[in-house]
Amino acid sequence: MSIWASSFDLEDNPPYAYQGSHVLPDHDDRRDSGEALQLAEVPSHITRDGRDDQPEDGTPWPWLRLSLYAEDAVLDRPAVESFHRAVGLWLERTGGTRPEWAPPPPGDTREQLPERLLSLVDAPAYTSTACETARECERAADGHAEHGVELRQAAERLHGRCRINNKFTGALCGCACHGEAR
Ligand SMILES: [Zn+2]
Ligand SMILES: [Zn+2]
Repeated sequence: MSIWASSFDLEDNPPYAYQGSHVLPDHDDRRDSGEALQLAEVPSHITRDGRDDQPEDGTPWPWLRLSLYAEDAVLDRPAVESFHRAVGLWLERTGGTRPEWAPPPPGDTREQLPERLLSLVDAPAYTSTACETARECERAADGHAEHGVELRQAAERLHGRCRINNKFTGALCGCACHGEAR
């Protein structure tokens, strides 16, 4: 399945065949097919190659396929105008912000391996990046008394941001800040 949706061609005003570098184009010139120049975009509902599981009315992906079937084609002003309009519109429509991929919230099991696979995997002990960095801050605080307060504040903030479970294995963060219960 193609992920591309054609969004523009010159069917209504096909480009003129290029006559060579010495010829001034004329409206009586032979015309190429309107497919000589096409734009296509990837609609918002495409999420991955060949997958479509997002709403259709979102912002298209920021990829514009420009197809040139003929090597040289001559556009008249109205053709350039409509091309310009199409490109401008596309720029406008893709200028907004697409919803960014958000990491799963702490405790979320969306990305966790299924139980039957997890039982086969020797999951390593887990310390979250937040807690790991917090500990580094605490270590640094000991050596840099002049920034001690700041470093300890940063550490506290980071411990608070721990995501608790490894999002792939579900292993719980082993940092001491979570208490002896673990
Ligand atoms: Zn911690
Ligand atoms: Zn932690």
